[in-house]
Amino acid sequence: MEADSDIKTTPKGFHCALCNVNLPNPPSVDQHVKGRKHQTLSTVRATRKTQEQHSVFVSGINPVISQTDIAEYFQKFGPVSDIVMDKDKGVYAIVQFAETDSIQATMSCVEHQMKGLKLRVKPREKKDFKLIPKKIASQNLQQALERLKPQLCQLVSVNAQMQYVVERFQLGDNEKKARGLLVQLLQEVFVEFFPDSQIQPFGSSVNTFGIHSCDLDLFLDLENTKVFQAHAKSTAEQAGEGTSDDGRSEDSILSDIDLSSASPAEVLELVATILRRCVPSVHKVSVVSSARLPVVKFHHRELNLQGDITLNNRLAVRNTRFLQLCSGMEDRLRPLAYTIRYWAKQKQQAGNPSGAGPLLNNYALTLLIIFFLQNCEPPVLPTVDQLKDMACEEEECVIEGWNCTFPSQPIAVPPSKNTQDLSTLLFGFFTFYAKFDFASSVISVRKGCALPITDFLSQNKAEEAMHEKKSTKAQPHGPKLGPLNLLDPFDLSHNVAGNLNERSQRNFQKECQEADKYCRSLQYQRKSTKGKSWGLVRLFTPHGEVPKAKTEQLTISIPFKLASLPEVLRNQLHAAGDGFRLLWFQKVCSAVEGVFQSVLKCHLSPSADAIFGEDSVVDSAVEMDTSSTSFNTSLNDSYDSVESPNAASPLGTAAVGAKRQLSSSSDASESPHVKKPRLAKRGKPEFPHWICVQKHMVWAGRRKVRRELIKDTDTRPEGSCMELESKVTAHIIEKEPALKEPMEFKVQPLMVGETESTKAVLKLEPISDTTGVFQDFFHFLEVFLPKMVETLLEKEVGSA
Ligand code: ATP
Ligand code: MG
Repeated sequence: MEADSDIKTTPKGFHCALCNVNLPNPPSVDQHVKGRKHQTLSTVRATRKTQEQHSVFVSGINPVISQTDIAEYFQKFGPVSDIVMDKDKGVYAIVQFAETDSIQATMSCVEHQMKGLKLRVKPREKKDFKLIPKKIASQNLQQALERLKPQLCQLVSVNAQMQYVVERFQLGDNEKKARGLLVQLLQEVFVEFFPDSQIQPFGSSVNTFGIHSCDLDLFLDLENTKVFQAHAKSTAEQAGEGTSDDGRSEDSILSDIDLSSASPAEVLELVATILRRCVPSVHKVSVVSSARLPVVKFHHRELNLQGDITLNNRLAVRNTRFLQLCSGMEDRLRPLAYTIRYWAKQKQQAGNPSGAGPLLNNYALTLLIIFFLQNCEPPVLPTVDQLKDMACEEEECVIEGWNCTFPSQPIAVPPSKNTQDLSTLLFGFFTFYAKFDFASSVISVRKGCALPITDFLSQNKAEEAMHEKKSTKAQPHGPKLGPLNLLDPFDLSHNVAGNLNERSQRNFQKECQEADKYCRSLQYQRKSTKGKSWGLVRLFTPHGEVPKAKTEQLTISIPFKLASLPEVLRNQLHAAGDGFRLLWFQKVCSAVEGVFQSVLKCHLSPSADAIFGEDSVVDSAVEMDTSSTSFNTSLNDSYDSVESPNAASPLGTAAVGAKRQLSSSSDASESPHVKKPRLAKRGKPEFPHWICVQKHMVWAGRRKVRRELIKDTDTRPEGSCMELESKVTAHIIEKEPALKEPMEFKVQPLMVGETESTKAVLKLEPISDTTGVFQDFFHFLEVFLPKMVETLLEKEVGSA
C-alpha cells in the first residue's frame, strides 16, 4: 500500500518518490517495488516512523545527567526502550518508549523536573524520510577533502603526503586502548555465560590499517566452551543428575542451548541477549543471519563504535595476523594502503557504505595492494607460498583444512631488494590495475601471480590445482567466479571480491586508468609553486559517475563473463588454452552478426578490406603463441563450429584466415615468431567490419509490441528469446512506416584483453543518418546488444 503511494505518474511514465528513480512502464514499476533498494528504503522509513511515533524530545538537561537518570525518570510514564543522548554537549536527549500511549502520558504532565532541573519535553518532530542523493554523498567527500587539503598542499613531496595520510587517519593510542578495554569487558561478560570462551579482535582495529571510525570486528571462540559443556554433560550423566553444578546449572544460560548441535543463528541470538542485558552502553543490537557469516551487530554509545561479533571465524583472525605480518616486514605497505583506501573511498570504489554492496571491501583492496607489491620488479613482498616455506615447524597452522602457515615474526623474512619510493609505488599500483585483464584472470596472492581463468573452468582441475590441503574438507568447491576474481590467501575456495558486479569492476579499472594518467602529470609529481592543489589532493578529488571518455562514446562493450557462459562453451574455452580469448571473440562476432541480421533485420555487408585486405581479424587481433600444439588443434576444431557459411561475414573470413595461418605453422616449436597476443593495437585498417543498413525504426516501441505478442497466444513464438525479438522486429517493420531515408552505419568489432579486462568492443559510426535517428538507435543497442549476444551464445552452443 505504502509502496503505491510512492509511485507517481509523470508525462514520461512513473516516478518513485522514495528512491528518486524514473520508471518507464507498469512492469518496471512492479519490478522496482519488489527490488532490494525499494524494499530496504521502505523498511528503514518504517523503522524511523515507528521511532518518531514512540519518542519525545527532551531538552534542558546538562552533561551531569546520565542516561540512567533519564531512564529512571521517564519509566514512570511507561517502559523506555531506548535513549539517545546528544553526545557532544549533553543538553538534550531523545527518549523512546515501547508504547505510544506513554507519549500521551508524558505530555499530560504539566512540569517535568529532574535533579533540580526543569526539563522541556515535546513530541518528536516528524520529518519526511528522504534518500540522500549521490550528489550529496560526493559533496560530503569533497568537504572532507577540503579539510585535508591545506596540510597536504604544504608538504614537500607525495611521499610526505602519504605519510601524512597515515598520521591523520590511523587509530590513536587512546582509541586502541579504549577498544582493548571494551574487548576485555566483553570477555569478562561472555566468560560468565560461556565458560572458557574467548573473544578475539580481528580486522582493521588490529590489522594495522585501522582508521578512527572503523568498526570493531570480534570473533567469539566457543570451542573450549563446547568441550566444557560436553564434559559437564557426561559428568552429570555419570552422577545420574539432570544438571551439573556449574556449566549446566539451572540458572546458566548454557542450560538453554546445546552448543554442539545449535545453529550459528541460535547461538548468536543468545549472544545478542547477553549484549542487550549485560553490557553497559551497548545498544542497537541485532542479529544478521543472512550474511555470508552470520553476525551480531551492536553499537557502543560512549565510544561511538560499531561492533560485529561472529562465530566460526578463525580464518579471519589468521588473515588479520597475515596483514599484520605484511606491514611488519614492509614499512611502505601502510602508507600505500591508507592512501589507496582513502582514494578508493573518495572515488566511491570501496567500502560499501551501507554494509553489503557491490564494491570492494577494505580487506579485498588490501589484498590487491599486496598482490601488486608481489609483482613489482624486484618484488616488494614475498608470495604466501614463499612465506610458508620461511616458517618453522612450530609455526605450522592449518585452519578448516587450509594451510595458513607463515612466520610469526617479520624478522624471519629477508628484506626486499626493491627500493622504489612511495610515490612511485602508488603510481605503479594504478598502472598495474589500469592494464590488468581482470576478466580472464584469477588473482592469487598465494602464488603471487594471476592464474588463467580457464584453469578454473573444470571443477576437478580447479580443485586439484587449488586444494592444497592437508586434511579433508566436507564439500570442497571452487571459488565463485565473477568480473573480479581475487582468491583469499588461505581459503582458496573463496573469491573475496565475489560480490562485485560488472559495473563496479569496470568503474574500479576506469578509476585506476584515470589515476594512472594523472600520476604521469607534473601536478602529481611536483609541488605547486602557486599554491594550487597538487599530488594526492587532485588524486583524492571525488566525482560522481565516471565520465565516459570521448572515444568511448560510440562504443558498446561486451564483457567476457565466464561465469554466465554455458558449460559446453566453457569447456571449449578451456580446451583452447591461451587462445580462449580469440575463440570467445569469434563466437561473439558471430552472435553480433546474428543480432543485426536476423533479429534487427539490418542489411549487412562486410567491408572490402575485410575480405581482401591483409589484415584479417586473426592476423591483426592476435598474433598467437603458436608454441602450443593443443592450441592449434583445438582452435581449428572450434573454428569449424563457428565458421559462418555467410559470404558476407567478416567473421567467416577471419576463421579462414586463422586456419590458414595456423596450419602453415604446424610445427609449432619451429615457429620463428612466438609472440604474445597483441590486441587492438594496429593502425588502420585494423579489423574487418560490417556496413549495415537499417530502413525501419525497429528500436522504437519494442516493449509494447513484445507485451502484445506474449499476451496473444496465437502469435506467441515458441522457444527462445531470439525468436520473440525477431518477431517483434518483423511486427514493427510490418506495421510502422519505414524511415524516409535508410540509415547506414559501420560496426567494427575489436577484441580487447590481456592489457585490460577481456571484452569485445563494437565501434559504431554513422555513415548516412539524414533522419537523425542514429543516436536513439545507438542507445537502444547499448543495452539490447550485450543481452542478446549472451542469449545467442547460449543458444548456439546449446544447439551445437
Ligand atoms: P574496515 O572495517 O575498516 O572497512 P576491515 O579490514 O576491518 O576494514 P571488514 O570488512 O570489517 O574490513 O572485515 C573484517 C575482517 O574480516 C577482514 O580484515 C578480514 O579478516 C575478514 N574479511 C572481510 N571480508 C572478507 C572476505 N570477503 N573474505 C574473507 N575474509 C574477509
Ligand atoms: Mg572492520
